[in-house]
Amino acid sequence: MNSKLLFFVLVFTVFSCSHQLPDFASSLSSRLPTKSQSFAHGEYSLGCIDGAVTFRGDEKGLLIAHKNRGRYWGHPSLIKFLTDAGSVFYKNKKNIILGDLSQSRGGPMLTGHNSHQNGLDVDIWFKMPNVEEAIHFQTLETEEMQSIKNLDDDQKNLIKYFASQDLVERIFINPSFKKKLCEDQGVLKLSFQEQRKMRAWWGHDDHIHVRIKCPSDSLHCVSQKPIPDGDGCGEDLNWWFSKEAMLADKESSFEEMKEIYLDKVNKLPSYCDFYKSLN
Ligand SMILES: [Zn+2]
Repeated sequence: MNSKLLFFVLVFTVFSCSHQLPDFASSLSSRLPTKSQSFAHGEYSLGCIDGAVTFRGDEKGLLIAHKNRGRYWGHPSLIKFLTDAGSVFYKNKKNIILGDLSQSRGGPMLTGHNSHQNGLDVDIWFKMPNVEEAIHFQTLETEEMQSIKNLDDDQKNLIKYFASQDLVERIFINPSFKKKLCEDQGVLKLSFQEQRKMRAWWGHDDHIHVRIKCPSDSLHCVSQKPIPDGDGCGEDLNWWFSKEAMLADKESSFEEMKEIYLDKVNKLPSYCDFYKSLN
């Protein structure tokens, strides 16, 4: 949480407003997952996860940022997918840094994300430390993601790796980087399908957002609408550089975020009732 947001949280806590947050909201970062078989429920942007799991802690090539947020939980298929990715990058002497996955029961988050709700989304930083660099957990607790202007070879490889994985449903990436990947499609040897999975979205100048497919045994998991036709490099990419797109990219105040959060909690499907439990 950045300092500005922390300020809002503190102000809010002191001067409680008309729309009170529910009691469980204070324990979102520390609650334990449900003791159930693992199921991804609902939509990526309106769902939850039953029986979430996390990393053992000795995985190679993976670093988890901001563990204090408690957003390092996911469906076992996501955890395995990332564990495998870590070992691939580790062989090339690189670590990948994972930002947020989901909360212990998934569901809406008060700050930071619209999606990441059903244990199938992960943010992966562009920053990739060499394995020789001793980065401490502590460092990552305080370090912020750093925006970048251009993609270097490591970052292109990172994107290419994730785009090439069958399990990946789509990747959200900064429109400027998407444009670059469109221009360099031949050089990067990106297939049509790999290019197509990468979709422009606001922000994402310090990380990519990787989303995996609904697990076959998660019957309540709602697959995302199919990717629109085309590889995302044509006319629809131009829109991202329009005034309309820039105007739509506005930061919400904490009050607005709270309203959105409460609205989402109310709209959660009934099979996510455990999200609203205090323990
Ligand atoms: Zn994300």
